[in-house]
Amino acid sequence: MADIAGYVYNAATYCEDCILDVVKADYANPHIVEHMTLEGIAETLSIDTEDEYSFDSDTFPKVIFSWDEAGDTPDTCGACHTTLDTSWHEPTMNYAYEALENNLIAWLTGGTFGNREVLDEWADRLGNCMGESDRQKAILEMYNAIPREEN
Ligand SMILES: [Zn+2]
Repeated sequence: MADIAGYVYNAATYCEDCILDVVKADYANPHIVEHMTLEGIAETLSIDTEDEYSFDSDTFPKVIFSWDEAGDTPDTCGACHTTLDTSWHEPTMNYAYEALENNLIAWLTGGTFGNREVLDEWADRLGNCMGESDRQKAILEMYNAIPREEN
């Protein structure tokens, strides 16, 4: 189970902590109230979670694994906005660098950062990646030089 990065459901992605509440909110009715686990809800809806081709992600969440590639933007949870642990490829990384850069520029010119928690997560991930350009290295260095508790 450690390789689950999140779920895709109803055209959005969610983390493992939030998915149950999201599904519950959609399906909580007297018939399934006693089955308040994902497995229980699946059973009640006659959904075979072993065969993800047999149902649609609009109906029930499908698992996203950590080896699944993020799109051109990082996958985030639609409920709590945490970043899902999917694999980043070059466009994903470029997007994250650009977000850091834009936020840095905003901050340096007297504005504020967007969601600092999310940006911190992205900066951490980028710090573990290899092969970025000098410009991207500079962005990351500059971002990391700003104390994180300051908002
Ligand atoms: Zn979440």
